[in-house]
Amino acid sequence: MKDKILNLQSTITDLGGRINEDHKNGLNRLGINTVKDLLYHFPTRYADMREIAGASTLVVGQAVTIYGVMEKVSVRRSFKGHIPMTEARIADNTGTVRCVWFNQAYIGKMYPDGTKVKISGVVQSDKNGFLLSNPNIERATSTIPESQSGLFASSTDTEFLTPVYRETKGVTSLYLYTLIKKLVQSSILDEIIDPVPKHILEKLHLPILKDALLYIHFPKNENLTIAARKRFAFEEIFFLQLKQYQEKVEAKHSLAYPITYNKKDIGDFIKSFPFKPTNAQLNAIDSILKDIARREPMGRLLEGDVGSGKTFVAAIVSYAILNNLDNKNDKRLQIAYMAPTEILAKQHFESFIKYFKGTNIEIGLLTSSGCAKFPSKSNPTSHTSISRTQLIKWLESGQISIVIGTHALIQKSIKFERLALVIIDEQHRFGVKQRKALAQSKKGTKEESKELPHLLSMTATPIPRTLALTIFGDLDITVIDAMPLERKKIITEIVPATKRTKIYEDIRKELQSGRQVYVICPRIDEQDEEEAQKRTLKSVKEEAKRLSEEIFPEFIVDILHSKMKKEEKEEVMQDFLDKKSDILVATSVIEVGINVPNATVIVIEHADRFGLAQLHQLRGRVGRREYQSYCYLFTESKGETTTKRLKALVTAKNGFELAEQDMMARGIGMLMDGKQWGISDLAMEAIKNPKLVEIARDESRELLDKDPKLTKYPLLKEVLEKRTQVHME
Ligand code: ADP
Ligand code: MG
Repeated sequence: MKDKILNLQSTITDLGGRINEDHKNGLNRLGINTVKDLLYHFPTRYADMREIAGASTLVVGQAVTIYGVMEKVSVRRSFKGHIPMTEARIADNTGTVRCVWFNQAYIGKMYPDGTKVKISGVVQSDKNGFLLSNPNIERATSTIPESQSGLFASSTDTEFLTPVYRETKGVTSLYLYTLIKKLVQSSILDEIIDPVPKHILEKLHLPILKDALLYIHFPKNENLTIAARKRFAFEEIFFLQLKQYQEKVEAKHSLAYPITYNKKDIGDFIKSFPFKPTNAQLNAIDSILKDIARREPMGRLLEGDVGSGKTFVAAIVSYAILNNLDNKNDKRLQIAYMAPTEILAKQHFESFIKYFKGTNIEIGLLTSSGCAKFPSKSNPTSHTSISRTQLIKWLESGQISIVIGTHALIQKSIKFERLALVIIDEQHRFGVKQRKALAQSKKGTKEESKELPHLLSMTATPIPRTLALTIFGDLDITVIDAMPLERKKIITEIVPATKRTKIYEDIRKELQSGRQVYVICPRIDEQDEEEAQKRTLKSVKEEAKRLSEEIFPEFIVDILHSKMKKEEKEEVMQDFLDKKSDILVATSVIEVGINVPNATVIVIEHADRFGLAQLHQLRGRVGRREYQSYCYLFTESKGETTTKRLKALVTAKNGFELAEQDMMARGIGMLMDGKQWGISDLAMEAIKNPKLVEIARDESRELLDKDPKLTKYPLLKEVLEKRTQVHME
């Protein structure tokens, strides 16, 4: 490290001899490519070494420090006879642990039998039991009080805290710790300039970057470490807010088609539906119509539970827009509607055909597996398959007014004549850049670069307000907070193990009458993601096997999980929709799934492991038709708090309310995986704190209002330029 000049952008291999090919691959898997990545690989927690009581309570994978005495020290060649190694046992008053050091014969000489030592490493095991391989070793300076039983001395300071890092094959927590320690001992920290303006840090009493890095990796004092974590959480939220405010400002300075509409005309269109819209729907329509009447592009997020009728709102708004003509050439404006899956795109396509049948509006469907258009030339009441080339041509000429599709819609070859609105269903982010790219027409004139379509983004994902402000900071938010009245309430029951058999019989009756059933198995919270994935798969597969062999042998059981390929998932969902299967055992991937109106039962295994908001959203998979539907929350937990918590589901008005409750009770990290939003666990936890989010928001806005180009903050500008916006997958 000394002979090579390092900076934050140096790749980790520049760190030299400590990093072999396996290490490099492992580090890359953890997302660590540069020195900066390494410094920003924060501990997930701090192990208090005193927690461990003795050799019998060691846990594989745990980072531990043990105070003890060297015993049975031997220096020999390894099994295969090549590598010199030291082997020893570390004994304290509770037991002994085996340690080996490969390629380090000197350890045997330096620490002979009887030496008091402090050993740190990650617990492994082999056929002979627990083992620490290549642990750190140093002479113990403090002697352990006699009264203290257990492997660790008692002390109230944080001398005994060691950072625990996320690991992967070939890269242990201890290895990371050692690497970071060496790095920090070089002069690298002196080069670090803090991108966050000093006055903001001072206002919040947060440490500067250099100090924060030290505090977070080397927990000398608990308060400092907490302050450091808070700083990094703030930093992340602050950058996100800045980025989004930049987008908001950029959007503000762009131009969209101002939409004029005739109230009576829209009223008549609404009357053509077989139901009466809820007030919540009408209010949403009202705010959207007001937005799009302006030249300034709309950016609005419509939040509403599954089934609250967001698609209806989108349809009415579409109608208003399609009754507008481009004032330059008197042609109809255009709309692009993007759905998260092919099946949903097809469903929306069919719904829109129903809604727009009476008008002479032409509708297209574009997915990677095929394209279609309504109306068909030969049969004006139905749609027909067309080639992609043909569809693209009709979009370019403006003949097709609404195109509904998947992600496949964002492609260079697709150009619109006059795109006025983009509707996005259940996608996490759709930034100004993507909007612009989509709106690019074949003309490519200069004036056009200022054009930006209105954006209506819709989501049923119940996220707390603070998170919404963080992720969708550039959008105005409207919530549809009521469900259509005639929908039957889903019967929700908390089922203890003893009632399982009876419930299975009730479910059998539903299946016999032709209905379908979802069974959800939890994702298991584990440190190691790969391990967690494996376990999840196993439980979905095992449950499916058990149900099809032992409980419901007369019905067809299928499975769906996150490790499956996109096409496989689509196929399984399509089969379930076509009733080729009766029971679908799945992980929570079906959350943002699809509408299978014939499914009337959802069983959730280990319901207590899910967040309330997530349970609520899962429950929304059923109850989509006139049939009475059921949600069974299976739980083995007998705790009163669990039952109480789950009972909130029976009374809750909407998912957003539950998300808020959940966040306060369990912390947001428990509720949802930040990765889907491009947010670290650290920042997810901080989002619980509305004050921090508000300050990040206010400060970012103030900064950009004063200095829109960030000329006074070149470093901040650079960070933001590098930071890619969070997109949908
Ligand atoms: P979301 O997209 O919010 O999940 P949808 O717009 O797909 O909900 O609506 C779900 C179902 O409810 C559709 O079949 C739709 O026709 C119907 N629906 C929508 N609004 C109402 C309403 N106000 N009253 C009755 N049914 C409605
Ligand atoms: Mg919808």
